[in-house]
Amino acid sequence: MAEPAEGASESAAAPVTRCGFVALIGAPNVGKSTLLNALVGAKISIVTPKVQTTRTLIRGIAVEGPAQLIFVDTPGIFAPRRRLDRAMVGSAWGSAQDADLVTLLIDAHKGLQDDDEAILRGLADIRAGKVLALNKVDLVAKPTLLQLAQRLNQEAAFAATFMVSALTGDGIADLKKFLAAHVPAGPWLYPEDQISDAPLRQLAAEITREKLYLRLHQELPYQSTVETEVWKELKDGSVRIEQTIYVERESQRKIVLGKGGAAIKAIGTAARADIAAAIEHPVHLFLFVKVREGWGDDPERYREMGLEFPQE
Ligand code: GDP
Ligand code: MG
Repeated sequence: MAEPAEGASESAAAPVTRCGFVALIGAPNVGKSTLLNALVGAKISIVTPKVQTTRTLIRGIAVEGPAQLIFVDTPGIFAPRRRLDRAMVGSAWGSAQDADLVTLLIDAHKGLQDDDEAILRGLADIRAGKVLALNKVDLVAKPTLLQLAQRLNQEAAFAATFMVSALTGDGIADLKKFLAAHVPAGPWLYPEDQISDAPLRQLAAEITREKLYLRLHQELPYQSTVETEVWKELKDGSVRIEQTIYVERESQRKIVLGKGGAAIKAIGTAARADIAAAIEHPVHLFLFVKVREGWGDDPERYREMGLEFPQE
């Protein structure tokens, strides 16, 4: 945390900047992605009522006073079964290991679950400062919250506890202030106005995946992935984007297309609007659906998602 020695003579004039990585960890569906978006003030990470929507590490960047906070949204931590699950859980713990601060999110409405207990045990091995955030307080009565906070603070050493609602924004400003005051002193890593480090192609693919999930979450298992194949900026300022939705089986391809192409059309319309808003340019979006058998066991797909490929 030492200040750089050089430039010390100027430090009377220049304010001390701070900068650090804050990992948001927690069980699936506790509201990590919603919180990231609330902290950054923009939609960076996709949110659905379905568990395991976030697959890779999504970084959102916010400035709070003299501090730049780089939030890392992680896949939920839970008892993994499949290879993709293991990769996601592994990357979540990896980001906690690398972070300057870790914020553990608990769904206060659901209360403590087995996955939370496992995470609390895992936290013992994390050196970074730990902050507890009880989320979804809009759904919970105060006494229940206090009890939960007390119990959690007995189980792990938290530097502070916050009661927040990522949905309504309640308590978010206090949490952000605390984090800003506790990241290490140091230069900012990103330009002041940058809010994400994800390439636009990836952001666009994530938006389409959100629409896919929102529309088909009953029918479609989460073995589907979206890749942006073409990104062409046209002379009139618009962007032509071609994306492929990969599914594992022909039956899933039919579901994504829908009757007479109705489902894919609706997904495309919703995704186009959000992508255009995100990149602030008109968008022509073309979606393709392809079957790629066994992509869940293909190392190349993991690389594209920024995940490590677990050997077993
Ligand atoms: P993640 O899996 O931890 O990233 O959770 P998400 O951010 O995707 O949120 C899961 C679900 O919880 C979504 O339906 C959110 O709208 C909902 N949610 C998140 N935060 C809150 C909150 O503060 N209050 C309420 N009522 N719902 C929330
Ligand atoms: Mg998420």
